[in-house]
Amino acid sequence: MKKEKFETIAVRGQMERSQYMEHSSPIYLSSSFVFEDAEDMRASFAEEKERNIYSRYANPNTTEFIDKVCRMEGAESGFAFASGMAAVFSTFAALLNSGDHIIAARSIFGATHTLLTNILPKWNISHSYFKYNELESIESLIGPGTKILYAETPTNPGVDVLDLEALGQIAKKNNLLLVIDNCFASPYLQQPIKYGADLVIHSGTKLMDGQGRVLAGVTVGSAELIEKIYKFSRTTGPALSPFNSWILSKSLETLSIRVDRHCENALKLAGYLESHPKVNWVKYPFLKSHPQYHLAKKQMKAGGCVVAFEIKGGLGAGRSFFDAIEMLSLSANLGDSRSIVTHPASTTHSKLTAEERQETGITDGMVRVSVGLEHIDDIISDINKALEG
Ligand SMILES: *Cc1c(COP(=O)(O)O)cnc(C)c1O
Repeated sequence: MKKEKFETIAVRGQMERSQYMEHSSPIYLSSSFVFEDAEDMRASFAEEKERNIYSRYANPNTTEFIDKVCRMEGAESGFAFASGMAAVFSTFAALLNSGDHIIAARSIFGATHTLLTNILPKWNISHSYFKYNELESIESLIGPGTKILYAETPTNPGVDVLDLEALGQIAKKNNLLLVIDNCFASPYLQQPIKYGADLVIHSGTKLMDGQGRVLAGVTVGSAELIEKIYKFSRTTGPALSPFNSWILSKSLETLSIRVDRHCENALKLAGYLESHPKVNWVKYPFLKSHPQYHLAKKQMKAGGCVVAFEIKGGLGAGRSFFDAIEMLSLSANLGDSRSIVTHPASTTHSKLTAEERQETGITDGMVRVSVGLEHIDDIISDINKALEG
């Protein structure tokens, strides 16, 4: 296949036209597909040919979405799921056996943490955590059952950056599968496979859809690993629906221009907050003051849509800030066209102990902004008014 540029793949990576010669891909709301004759049916089930059989296995819309993500990430193959968490769970469940062990960065998505600590132990799958900036500790955590090295970068909500190249080398040297949740960056800003990731997971719910409409997930990577994930998933049934696949594939057409604007707005907001007298600190990967600024510059095209900052005055000041916000949404999502502010200490990370919160860099006055596509002047003005109180 010709190596087209990212933007071209996003727009032109469509399924073949039907007999109606439509310009934009139609939606195939069909749970099953029909066979020509007995031989066609036999050969299809024997997997002697690639074709649609049943939408729990594959569907033209789902395949179109997966193929685009594969080409964007430089992956051989993929499978799409009904949510990001279905992708994370199915990836672990398909590849691991009882007695296996996962090494993960401590700063991971809340539900992934719950999966590792409360759910996977039911099948005797254990985990150990390393701190995002202590990659040298990883090798000491490896045991006989260790199979997967797992991380997200940038992290949520602290926007810390993990060194993908170093993770790739550690995984290779120790014969571990490197699995990266790339949802904070999107394939437009960062492609972990280049650095040695074996599998890349996305919650399509975030930047990929980018308009707050659907839940989705996708795992892409080597054909050999995806074959195992596919076989597990076609039996257990976490597949993405054709309609949501169609929405996602349409959303990807505009991913690059949306993410460009998200990042431009986020960098402007971060710069503004840095000089605000009511703000203790600001973290954004492409701010020079970010501890991993050079690393972020090396592995990311831009800094992403999330800015973290701390309001002076702790919890009380945090609460009055949220009550004074007018335009920005108080919501739990991110990567949406509408800017969203969240207070991790009292919401998404409230179940963590004070010590765990400190380990993941979450303070009482910390605010996470998912910077959207409104005009930057209006975003700054709303946040500024709320800070002034
Ligand atoms: C949201 C999110 C998930 C889970 O995705 P859902 O679509 O909500 O199931 C996983 N990882 C990261 C980094 C996320 O932000």
